Amino acid sequence: MKKINLKLFFIPFLIITIVFSLFSYYSIENRIKENLHHLEKDAFIIAKNYSKVLTKSFEAKEVINELLDDKILSAARIGELYQDRESNILLNSLSERLNVDEIYFYDTNGKVIYTNIEEFIDWQAPEGHPVSNFKISGEKQYIEEIRKDTVRGLLLKYGYYRLENGNFYQIGVKAENIQDFVGTFEIKELLDQIYMQGLVEKIAFYDNQKLLVAESGTLSFEDTKEDYFHSADVPVTVGEEIIGTLSLFQSVEDFKTSTNKIIIQGSIIFLMLLLALLWVMRTIYYQSKRYYKLAYFDQKTGFPNYDYLVEYLNENISENEDKNQAIFLISLRNIKKLNLAYGFKHGEEIISELSKRFKNILKNNDQIFKYNVDQFAIVVDGYNDKNDLLILAEQIVGIIEEPFSGTLGSHYINPAIGVLELKGRHCTTDTAINNVFHAMTQAKVNPYINFVFFDEKMEKKLRREDKIERILRKAIKDKDSEEFYLEYQPKLDLKTNKISGFEALARLKTEELGQISPFEFIKVAEKSLIITDLGNKIYYLAHKFTKKLANEGFPKEKIAINISGIQLAYEDFPGFEIKDDLVEFEITESVLLDNFDSVNEKLSELRNKGIKIYLDDFGTGFSSLARLNELNIDTLKIDKYFIDRIGQTDVNKKELIIPDIISMAHKTGLNVVAEGVETEEQKEYLLKYGCDLIQGYYYSKPLSEEAAIDFLKKENGNA
Ligand code: C2E
Ligand code: CA
Ligand code: CA
Repeated sequence: MKKINLKLFFIPFLIITIVFSLFSYYSIENRIKENLHHLEKDAFIIAKNYSKVLTKSFEAKEVINELLDDKILSAARIGELYQDRESNILLNSLSERLNVDEIYFYDTNGKVIYTNIEEFIDWQAPEGHPVSNFKISGEKQYIEEIRKDTVRGLLLKYGYYRLENGNFYQIGVKAENIQDFVGTFEIKELLDQIYMQGLVEKIAFYDNQKLLVAESGTLSFEDTKEDYFHSADVPVTVGEEIIGTLSLFQSVEDFKTSTNKIIIQGSIIFLMLLLALLWVMRTIYYQSKRYYKLAYFDQKTGFPNYDYLVEYLNENISENEDKNQAIFLISLRNIKKLNLAYGFKHGEEIISELSKRFKNILKNNDQIFKYNVDQFAIVVDGYNDKNDLLILAEQIVGIIEEPFSGTLGSHYINPAIGVLELKGRHCTTDTAINNVFHAMTQAKVNPYINFVFFDEKMEKKLRREDKIERILRKAIKDKDSEEFYLEYQPKLDLKTNKISGFEALARLKTEELGQISPFEFIKVAEKSLIITDLGNKIYYLAHKFTKKLANEGFPKEKIAINISGIQLAYEDFPGFEIKDDLVEFEITESVLLDNFDSVNEKLSELRNKGIKIYLDDFGTGFSSLARLNELNIDTLKIDKYFIDRIGQTDVNKKELIIPDIISMAHKTGLNVVAEGVETEEQKEYLLKYGCDLIQGYYYSKPLSEEAAIDFLKKENGNA
């Protein structure tokens, strides 16, 4: 069984999914990068701002230090003012007045002479001590950095000042006081304050040798290194000088969390879109499946349809040329009539019952199709020999002929089946369908035959028809075709004994096939639907001949052309532009059978244009005699069948209805032509009963253009 190709859905889905995944992956990655970039940018701005704070702090601290230095030195210098009056009492009061903690007065040996700190009187600095270093340095003044004093271990900032006589002052300010004062400017404290603002995870200050000076927080950075990553570095300057680098760090954990958030958000969007896509694809798939069912299956029976059959054969015929495969085409002859009589619903009931019966007799490999409204096709796969096919054909006939009892009573269906064996035929799907259709048509035309196997004779016939069709198509295109031409048979006016026009008869003659009867090639043209184009050409040739006759001096000579029933059935008949009224139309009586009114209406239009109409083969099919006065025609053409009976020994003269036809026609105002008149006797008989015109071998066979002109000149004389 044929199915919708799932690949058609799966492959685009896969491609879209891959493209989509890549797109999602890159956009998530991008967002993460962007996030990092933002983080670094923010960190950089923060770091820059903090570096300014640090710069300011350093500058402030320096100013304070300088002030302090000044204070210590000025205290020492004030001591100078009391030269030679130094005493412990003086230093005591100075320390109070100048707000310094300790004042020492040393002699040139570096021994404390006076001080406000009693325990240090007579204390002498050992070698290498900062005091003895100053003593031997010979410098005027010196300020130390904060340090522990060597005796008590207290933190102090000391300054020295040398007098003219070599004695010197040492002033000390306790570090806790200094700390109180400049403590807020310590780097560590600054970093902690920055950290407290919560904008950064970790902040550190490195000196120019890249050594860690201070860092925020209590945990040492070195121990928690893996938890952070560097996000910004900004130099810290004091004045023009770079004094170190401020580095900001972000928590790896935080970054991971925000990254995960982005990944989760992105993935959710991706999944949602993927689900939406899946849903759309699913909807399309089911829609396609529905359309596919509509396109390839018969809705009533559920059987695959004609289009499916074509595809099925396309796939199977060439692949399995050596396999025993056959096509059955089954037509239900009278179902259309039942539909008309009992309504379509009843027909449908029968079809659905029949579908069930089919299922019971088909084997696994056999495939059934609803070929048409009233036709089924079966492709039989893997039978043994022709006998199997005969049995199956009988079986099919059996199930169809078994009466159908529905709500409207029992009905009998009469099947016509064509069978085509595919093995070794090397044919295309088109030919196969044509052939089996042809076989079915052969069965159809004979009401006593139920099935026909396509055979060589039919094949030969179809090949010939195919050839003729191609020749005709070529001739239609070729304006001056020598293979297709018209012959003209004159009509004799019995009253004047002169020619009253010609009937144009189409001719086809090829080197390969010789002369082909119009009975044959007209049927081919009708079957292949090229009859309108051919009819067009016939009109064109006939009209051209009327012009030629006019040139020869016969401007009023008319030519009747034969019009096929199929041509008449077309909505836009005649389908060619009528140039004048010199070309007349002959239509056969049988075309009136199916659609009297519409044909009659078309004939009326033509007559309004001045075109004369002949009713050909009158008396054969359906008798128009009863409705003769309704018919839009000018002339009756009595069929050759009736003419042939004139003078036949076994025909009773009273049985001849020709006189009745003639008088009836005349009463209705119609002319009468007798066709196929071959003998003097026939002519005399027709003359006697008032027939207007005769046409036939007795007077003249159909003639070529030149012969027709010569004959016209001979019979009618130069006009
Ligand atoms: P039709 O229209 O009844 O044409 C009369 C046929 O009888 C012609 O055969 C003509 O040659 C033949 N015929 C004429 N007088 C006699 C006679 O005395 N004895 C005998 N035995 N036959 C005679 P043709 O030309 O073979 O045409 C056969 C049919 O083919 C025509 O029957 C017509 O139905 C069709 N046909 C011919 N030409 C055309 C055409 O141009 N268009 C169409 N649509 N059909 C055409
Ligand atoms: Ca005719
Ligand atoms: Ca005829």
